[in-house]
Amino acid sequence: MLHFSLFFQAIDSIEPLLRRMSHQLSPLPRASLASLQRLQDLEESLAREHTPPSCSMSTPLSHSSAQDTTDHLPRQQPQDDRVEKLALLKDQALECQRCPHLVKSRRNVVFGVGNPYASLMFVGEAPGEEEDLRGEPFVGKAGELLTKIIHSMDYQREEIFIANILKCRPNMPAGVTGNRKPKPEEMTTCLPWLKKQIELIKPRVLVAWGSTAMEGLLGKSMLMRQARGRWFEFEGIPLMVTYHPAYLLRNQSLSEKRKVWEDMLQVLEKLERPISQKQRQFFLSATA
Ligand code: SF4
Repeated sequence: MLHFSLFFQAIDSIEPLLRRMSHQLSPLPRASLASLQRLQDLEESLAREHTPPSCSMSTPLSHSSAQDTTDHLPRQQPQDDRVEKLALLKDQALECQRCPHLVKSRRNVVFGVGNPYASLMFVGEAPGEEEDLRGEPFVGKAGELLTKIIHSMDYQREEIFIANILKCRPNMPAGVTGNRKPKPEEMTTCLPWLKKQIELIKPRVLVAWGSTAMEGLLGKSMLMRQARGRWFEFEGIPLMVTYHPAYLLRNQSLSEKRKVWEDMLQVLEKLERPISQKQRQFFLSATA
């Protein structure tokens, strides 16, 4: 059995390297993913051949199951044309003229960014000034905080798809700075773009960041303190509602951060992602 033992050691030494690569590159090169999958298949097949069915392996491998540990890798669909379809949808959205008053004032249509194969999709409200300038959702201070939350969840930003209910920045009266909340009719007009994105990406879980995103998706308003932390559904997909990162910037209390983190723990559980003890403890002292 010595050669099998050496073989398992070789697999264990290669696997962490491939997993580190998955955090540095998005998407992970298909060859690496394929290699990892082949190694796992071979390893499992060998384990089945050389382990009595009633016994577990005496030396557990570093991963317990593919389901648990590979959710953060882009889901492979080689025959899937969603990348092309999403690119086409983006081209169409960039030309959208449905809201003439917003077309006049926008600098960019903020379509959304991220992994077309994302299991997790975040939905915000609308581009602010900085997003309008850069053409990307969740940039600036709120975006930085969102990125920190994503990293704490053991994801990279590129692994998630991030979009807004409204693709164009709500216009402001001349001489007035800041951002305004999208109007219900603006959200209704723009929602088909987001629906189509969700239909193509097929995320397993959606998160609505803030009350406007919740209203845009669910078509009703609720008090955030009643809605956050609860599961809703959008087009059959589980939808978690939580506070917007901008709210956490305004309200720096650890107890509010803990609430958002508890919502993210629910999201990780729904996605069957491994959660470390350290992750479970984040901000806990605030509520003790
Ligand atoms: S907000 Fe949406 S629907 Fe309105 S012009 Fe922009 S992309 Fe089109």
